[in-house]
Order: sequence, then C-alpha cells, then structure tokens
Amino acid sequence: MKSNADSPKEIVIIGAGIIGCSTAYQLTRHPSFSAATTTIKVIEASKHGPAQGASGKAGGLVAKWAYPKELVDISFAEHVKLAKEHNGQDRWGWRYVGCGSWEGKGAILPEDADFSDGVGAGGRRKSLEKTFGLEGGGRKSDPVSRKRKGLPDDLLWVDESLTHSYSPMAAHGDTAQVHPFLFTNSMMDLAIEKGAELVLGRATSLNISDGKVTSVDITHNDSGKRETLSATHVILAAGAWSPSLLPSLPISATRAHSITIHAQPSVDIAPYVLFTEIALPERRGLTVSPEIYARPGNEIYACGPGDDSLLPKNVDDVILDEVACESIWKHVSSISPELRAGTVGKRQACFLPTVETGGGPIVGAAPHIAQGLIIATGHTCWGISNAPGTAKALSELVMDGHIQCANLRKLEPSNYL
Ligand SMILES: Cc1cc2nc3c(=O)[nH]c(=O)nc-3n(C[C@H](O)[C@H](O)[C@H](O)COP(=O)(O)OP(=O)(O)OC[C@H]3O[C@@H](n4cnc5c(N)ncnc54)[C@H](O)[C@@H]3O)c2cc1C
Repeated sequence: MKSNADSPKEIVIIGAGIIGCSTAYQLTRHPSFSAATTTIKVIEASKHGPAQGASGKAGGLVAKWAYPKELVDISFAEHVKLAKEHNGQDRWGWRYVGCGSWEGKGAILPEDADFSDGVGAGGRRKSLEKTFGLEGGGRKSDPVSRKRKGLPDDLLWVDESLTHSYSPMAAHGDTAQVHPFLFTNSMMDLAIEKGAELVLGRATSLNISDGKVTSVDITHNDSGKRETLSATHVILAAGAWSPSLLPSLPISATRAHSITIHAQPSVDIAPYVLFTEIALPERRGLTVSPEIYARPGNEIYACGPGDDSLLPKNVDDVILDEVACESIWKHVSSISPELRAGTVGKRQACFLPTVETGGGPIVGAAPHIAQGLIIATGHTCWGISNAPGTAKALSELVMDGHIQCANLRKLEPSNYL
C-alpha cells in the first residue's frame, strides 16, 4: 500500500474491540501522525462503548509462547513498553504471572447434583485452543507430596489433596496478564487524548469506487441517524462480525462463557493462570478443562469451553446461558476451597473470532479488493496478547505505506480471500 506520510488521511476503524482501540492508539503515536492532517474515527456498534465483546470478556493472558510467532515477537515487547509508559500496573492490571497445567479431581460439593460439562445450550463442546502447539504438558501421575506433585510453594488456592500434578508451561517472565476490558478502554482513552474519536454507531456498508475505499455508511446508536463517513483508509476490526461487512472473509464465531469470582479479602490469591483438567466426581471418565486466571485485587476469572451458538447481529444481544456459567462455577470451586468461599461477580458470554481454514489472524492490506482497505480480524484465542503488535504493524501500513516492524506476509488477506 503506497502512502505519503504528509498526505491528509481520513481513517475509519470499524470495531472498538482490543484490535480497533489498540490500532487507534498506535496510529496516534506514529511519528508522522498529526491531528491537523489525519482524522481517526473508531465506530462501535454497542451502545455501551468499547470492549463489550471478547475483548472485555477474555482472560487476559499475554505470553511469549503464544502464536503466531511473527506477531508475538512484536506484541510482548509492546505490552511491556505500554505498561511502563502508561502505568499499566495500576491502569489495566499488568503483571507477570505463573502459568501451568493443573491436573486432578474435583471434590464432591454438598449441593452437587448435576455436574454438567460446561457447554452452553448452543451445543457441541469446542476447545479454545490456547494450549495447542505447546509441548507435552509433562503430566505426572499420582505423586504424593506437594513438591512431588510440582505445586509451587505459593500456589495455595488449589486443594493439594485433589491435585495429581502441576506442570509449569513457561519460564518465569514469559507470561504476563492484563485486565482486557481496562486495557482496551485505556487504549481508546489514550487515542482520544491525541485526537481520535469514538463514534457509537453501526457500520452498515463499505463503499468502494474505482478500486478504492471512499467511505463507510453508519447508523448512529442514539438517534438512528444515518451518515456517510468519507475515508481514505478503512480498518475492518469487527471481530467475529467482520464478515457482515465483507462476506468473503473466512471468519467464524465461537461462543464462550466466563465468570468472575471475588475471593475473601483474607485469602492470598497468588498470581497464577491454570489450564486445568478436572476429573468430575461421580461422572467417571468425564473431565472438564476450565481456565482459571487469578487477577489483582483477589478477583479470579474462569472460562469454559466454546460452543456453536449462532452469532447475533449485535454484541449487545449475545445470549448468556446461566447453566454454562453455573457449571464453570461448580467446576472451579470443586478444586479450591478459596474459590468456593468467594462470591460470583460477572456471568458473561462472548464470541471468539476464528479463521475457518485454521491459522490466522488475517492482518494487512487487501488491495485486490480495494485500495485503502485493511483487515485485522480472526485473532482466535490470542487477540489480547497480539493486539499491540497487530496495531503497531497497521499503524506503519497506514502512515508509511508498508510494515517494517515484522514480516507478516503469512497473515496477509490475499492468503485467505
Ligand atoms: C473466553 C475467552 C478467553 C480469552 N482469553 C484470552 C487471553 O487470555 N489472551 C488472549 O490473548 N486472548 C484471549 N481471548 C481472545 C480475545 O478475546 C480475542 O482474540 C480478541 O478479543 C478479539 O478482539 P477483536 O477486537 O478482534 O474483537 P471483539 O472484541 O469482538 O471486538 C469487535 C468489536 O466490533 C464491533 N462491531 C462488530 N460489527 C460492527 C459494525 N458493523 N459496526 C461497528 N462495530 C462493530 C463489536 O461490537 C465489537 O465491540 C479469549 C477469548 C475468549 C472468548
């Protein structure tokens, strides 16, 4: 994509998830950015603002061992830099965490009559695939002592007697976390400070003329008023909804449920993220694999498997299956008296954008469709981790005309469309 750094630009970003908001942020921090010559409008269909989809309801793991490597290499370093520059520790809960696979059995809870497998009424159980590609897991069976089970000294919020084994998944310093809702909103706020604008409305079509994007039609959320926003560049970052504007995109949507738990203030919830394998009591052979994320402030986030529920038209209309949330709660509290004594805060569901052909995400210019059209979607289960790198690359693409910080050829839209 050819671009003159000084030429006026009207940039429209569709979607205020972590990808759209991070891109707005990185554009405003590009050395050639000037609010006098460049406008940035982020369009968000939710009436509640940014991060109402997966970006606000994800776990928030940031890992050097995530994939694809091309994006991870720039993203992790960028996360570290952002946290330092903007006090991410206080602003969005940035910190390094221990991370491991935990295997064991659940305790029988008094009221436990129905341990379902955590899948919502949407159907088939689907893995969120975070641990795919990791080597082994190295699970040992049946060790007796805490040490021999591999449990770290400070991981006291899982029941040792129910633990079969714990295996660290990465070296210290290779795994961190953010609170994804706070991170996404911070990126948007910091972009607004430098002149970007958040528009609450729904993008209804991309307009193309003579092989170039010219504008985006939107309908404002509050007034229902329609408007056409002229654009030299359109960045499609609408997550699982991206095909509604570009139907040829091979993106599908997987619904996943999650809950947050507030542990008692007297309990020390050490910073660990656990990928569990819990053998359910009285359901011989049935195991469940909730992911559990300790967060600052004694909050714990836990999510269950994905399902095939249909994607609604708007993020605000995502339907929550209470049974799926209840199952996550039962499963995680069955291995931890500390969680069991806590109270459930949020119960939520969201849609993960996945690339149907595997791989992804899809990131880059799509000149074969239209000059000025840029796609950034299909970040699967690593969108929180990979957002800063994606955004940095896209800011270079728009402002310099090419990506310098990484070789993202494998992710280019022409490989998928
Ligand atoms: C349970 C779960 C746990 C996860 N945990 C992690 C994790 O620990 N680490 C990690 O790296 N990743 C994780 N992920 C993945 C991560 O959440 C996603 O990859 C990421 O949030 C995708 O961001 P996005 O901006 O592309 O999409 P979204 O967050 O879905 O944002 C897209 C936005 O576009 C808006 N939109 C859609 N259509 C339109 C339109 N026509 N006009 C205007 N706006 C529109 C939507 O309303 C939405 O706000 C997890 C995902 C799930 C489901």
